[in-house]
Amino acid sequence: MTIKKTNHLSELNDAQKEAVGSVNGPLLVLAGAGTGKTRVLTSRLSYILQNNIARPSEICTVTFTNKAANEMRMRVEKMIGNSIAGWWLGTFHSLAARILRANAELVNLKNTFTIIDTDDQIRLIKQLLSLENIDEKRWPARSLLSIIQRWKDMGLNPIDVKDAFHSGTDFANNQAIKLYKLYQNRLITLNAADFGDLLLHVITIFQRNSDIKSLYQNKFKYILVDEFQDTNASQYYWLKSLAEKHKNLCAVGDDDQSIYSWRGADVSNILNFEKDFQNTKTIRLEENYRSTGNILAAASGLISKNQSRLGKTLWTEGDIGNLINIRTVYDGKEEAESISDEIEAYQRNNNSINNVAILVRAGFQTRTFEERFLKIGLPYQVVGGLRFYERLEIRDAIAYLRLINSSDDQLAFERIINKPKRGLGDKTIRHIEQYSRSSKLNLEMAARKLSETDELSSKASSTIRLFSKNLDKWRIDLAGKKLGELVEIVLEESGYIEMLKKDRSIEAPGRLDNLKELVNAINEFESLQNFLEHIQLVMEGANNQDIETAKIMTLHAAKGLEFPLVFLPGWEEGLFPNQRSIDENGESGLEEERRLAYVGITRAKSDLWIFNANSRLTHGQWIDCIPSRFLDELPEKNISRFSSYSNNYNFKSSIASEWLMANNKKVINHYEDNKYDINDSNFKLMERIFHQKFGYGKIIDIDGDKVTIDFEKAGEKKLMLTFIEKI
Ligand code: ATP
Ligand code: MG
Repeated sequence: MTIKKTNHLSELNDAQKEAVGSVNGPLLVLAGAGTGKTRVLTSRLSYILQNNIARPSEICTVTFTNKAANEMRMRVEKMIGNSIAGWWLGTFHSLAARILRANAELVNLKNTFTIIDTDDQIRLIKQLLSLENIDEKRWPARSLLSIIQRWKDMGLNPIDVKDAFHSGTDFANNQAIKLYKLYQNRLITLNAADFGDLLLHVITIFQRNSDIKSLYQNKFKYILVDEFQDTNASQYYWLKSLAEKHKNLCAVGDDDQSIYSWRGADVSNILNFEKDFQNTKTIRLEENYRSTGNILAAASGLISKNQSRLGKTLWTEGDIGNLINIRTVYDGKEEAESISDEIEAYQRNNNSINNVAILVRAGFQTRTFEERFLKIGLPYQVVGGLRFYERLEIRDAIAYLRLINSSDDQLAFERIINKPKRGLGDKTIRHIEQYSRSSKLNLEMAARKLSETDELSSKASSTIRLFSKNLDKWRIDLAGKKLGELVEIVLEESGYIEMLKKDRSIEAPGRLDNLKELVNAINEFESLQNFLEHIQLVMEGANNQDIETAKIMTLHAAKGLEFPLVFLPGWEEGLFPNQRSIDENGESGLEEERRLAYVGITRAKSDLWIFNANSRLTHGQWIDCIPSRFLDELPEKNISRFSSYSNNYNFKSSIASEWLMANNKKVINHYEDNKYDINDSNFKLMERIFHQKFGYGKIIDIDGDKVTIDFEKAGEKKLMLTFIEKI
């Protein structure tokens, strides 16, 4: 293998060079966002390879996501000008799975073991509960699963769990440990491992087989870890075991970016590192290369409000840049419109929308943006998650609505007849399908017919009769109620909401929020038919990987990434900081929310917009929103506030406004009662106008600061008045 010997060290500052070059001995790089921690890791990898200090198979590099691993691999291969075989570069899970496969028999697995997902885990636990005569209604499977996961995150096998860990983990009158043991045995019988097992089994193997442990300790001469602040106890223990011999463990992290405590991450691993590894060298990087002065100062000002932090200084030699735009809007819809307007203005300045990210606190927030972007044809991608209408609970709810809308919708019937579980087994379903085929009745009708006979068990028949009665009622509700109300009734009466409320998984609260958001969505439509057609159109806009897209993702998913233009919507009390985090974890929950805000702000390279709405629709109701306390914690000198409701038009830093000023546009003004008026613009209905993107058209509606234009080429578009020109 030929390795290119570029001197990429010249592209690093002195502290970074030191971090790259200090390959021997434990090293902790503790530094704020954008200071080049990930770059240090990449360069260190190349440095070790280029100087023949170790082979790729002797270096274990841990990244937070598979995507990050791929990027790092590509960068290193570019630096050394060669593709490399035998890498050990990946997430904790993927690396641990590799070690486990090679040694599976030591924990009584075959090397063909399967890795099971959450659904399988739940199914398994349910079987166990039923075998043990534990009432699943009282003691939900999900609760036990989260207890087991917590123990696994702590690196505890059933025999390691001591009473001390019992607090808050009572399950079925002290049976959690016993059930954990049964669950583990069952997995082994099935030749399966869950995600937590991947690390836990390796830890166990190392504990019981010092020869195997030595083998890996000898093999991995160098260990590199990114995002170290978000490791949990089991991951840390795993790392420590691997690094014990050579002690060449390099961890980079930022305590201010620890945002996964809800998944067992423990920021105190940073403090333990220095205790566990004597003579640890700690390097601090202080120069930020990512963000403008204003962005950096705002982020530093905000995070300084946290009490429990190690504290650090950050500076940049880069431009002070534009002020951060804080914009208060009327509601979620206006928020989405303003953001899409800004993105379009950005594109008009010949910038790529690949540069743009919208980072939300909660998954349900993506919906308004998705709808808006689909409407105006702006390509987008939901990164690290599904698009709103593709999400499981939304598809279930829509299946209910489809069946209510049409008894012939067989796929919808199949999807929800036993969801939530109504005790209809596969046999019953097959029976209904058979009868439907032979009688040429649709599934619903076939089921109804059968339920009036003795063909099915009496329990199945009565379940179907009850379901049919509900369907009849919902079809009447459809005629008499608002669509949003109908959705609420259906989800409540079908037992779907109850199922989710009992669900103790991490995802469940988000799923409930998504369903509330669905109520908002559907209320915007005149008829159920219209709504269902809309969904079909939305779903057809399939993801095209090759085109440039604006990215929408959660703040959690944005860790480690950077974008020139970032929007942070929904900065309102309750949403961000998230009320649940505060309720459940008090001050430390609030501090984690603040760290999340810090992560969000520091993703931005050049321009940052933060939005808050005065009111939001929740459950079909308007709720007045209080601006997030984080908005008040940003240093005034780095921000520019702009509200749709006052004359405080501070256009200094807005991209749109620059464009606006340059084009000598009219500025909108505003009445006290929250309605807009157009100050000296004098646009009239049916007036012919010009728009930079869509060309010539006629005004067909004026609604406050928004106008609907019938464009000669582009058809009908709803636009902000400020972007149209008189001719
Ligand atoms: P985060 O905490 O968000 O993960 P980080 O500390 O890992 O950030 P990087 O992503 O490695 O920071 O670097 C931030 C940006 O700064 C990247 O675009 C990187 O290429 C650039 N950068 C880092 N070091 C230098 C340097 N010495 N000279 C120029 N650019 C640099
Ligand atoms: Mg990084």
